[in-house]
Amino acid sequence: MTTKLSARQLVREEITAIGAYPVADASGYIKLDAMENPWPLPLELQHELAVELAQVALNRYPDPNGGGLKEQLRQAFAIPAAADILLGNGSDELITLITQALARPGAKLLALEPSFVMYKMNALLSGLQYVGVPLREDFTLDLPLLLAAIAREQPAVVFVSYPNNPTGPRYAREEVLAVCRAAPGLVVVDEAYQSFADDSLMDLAGELDNLLVMRTLSKLGLAGIRLGYAAASPAWINELNKVRPPYNVNVLTLAAAGFALRHLDVFNRQAAELRAERGRLFAELSCLPLVRAFPSQANFITIRVPDAPALYQHIKQRGILIKQLHGSHPLLANCLRLTVGSPDDNAALLSAIQRFFA
Ligand SMILES: *Cc1c(COP(=O)(O)O)cnc(C)c1O
Repeated sequence: MTTKLSARQLVREEITAIGAYPVADASGYIKLDAMENPWPLPLELQHELAVELAQVALNRYPDPNGGGLKEQLRQAFAIPAAADILLGNGSDELITLITQALARPGAKLLALEPSFVMYKMNALLSGLQYVGVPLREDFTLDLPLLLAAIAREQPAVVFVSYPNNPTGPRYAREEVLAVCRAAPGLVVVDEAYQSFADDSLMDLAGELDNLLVMRTLSKLGLAGIRLGYAAASPAWINELNKVRPPYNVNVLTLAAAGFALRHLDVFNRQAAELRAERGRLFAELSCLPLVRAFPSQANFITIRVPDAPALYQHIKQRGILIKQLHGSHPLLANCLRLTVGSPDDNAALLSAIQRFFA
């Protein structure tokens, strides 16, 4: 008889030590916790999409080159001719592919803090050493501190969320370019919120050798289909493509994404409405003396209040789910993240917050 080892004994210690990515049960709530687009597909588009999806060859493996989707993305989002494109099962998968490819012994991943938690998580899962560099108290970038950390740590990859989740602002374009100049390795500019922002580095993809621009259709209104894309020099995409599982983007996602890009005007109008809603919500929040609202270039607004857990519970009791940031990082003490939703959702949220402080 051989002695059997338990899962806990066999699994790497750094994995048994952590919890899985928490997703709150949202049934019955107005969902303002995950930066989703609040509107379903318009009815006539639902019918058109149903017909197209019904014709998809479910018996065949997907085209590993995306079946024309890359060219559609290039057209729709002005991806430069000099850049090649990599598709992912959400940009979450692209982060995983990048960290797996770069995990040489001793290699480091550097990210700003607080930022998207999956950067640190993937460093841990892939076996990269993680280096976090704090933002300033007001969530602006301390560029001298960041450049000093890059010079000291010589990271294989730097992740920059542009705009930054979960804080809202984007950094100055010049600051990110300074990071690209200073970094010895790859600089990933994560533009998940590009639809709501007023700048992008996509125009430099393929031109700056160490720049990779990563985006997703999730925040634009297609979080359910899981499609992310990265644009970078052919040399980088060629290596990352070897790490990619050959059929990582399924046929239904390829078809639905192609369909959505042919109706991009619908999603762009919704994004414009959400930007307008963000402006209204920000103005109203800023009128409350005990609320500090941070300016945002994304479809969420992060606020700091005297007692975030109490306000979170109050809002939840009124049937609205937001994101509790308090406790996840020292700089996020007493912070909450509010996804910008439909006008009705936002009115309900605002009234709950106003009543709390009344
Ligand atoms: C939401 C988000 C992602 C993940 O996007 P998916 O394509 O849905 O996996 C990546 N980066 C940032 C900064 C995000 O906020």
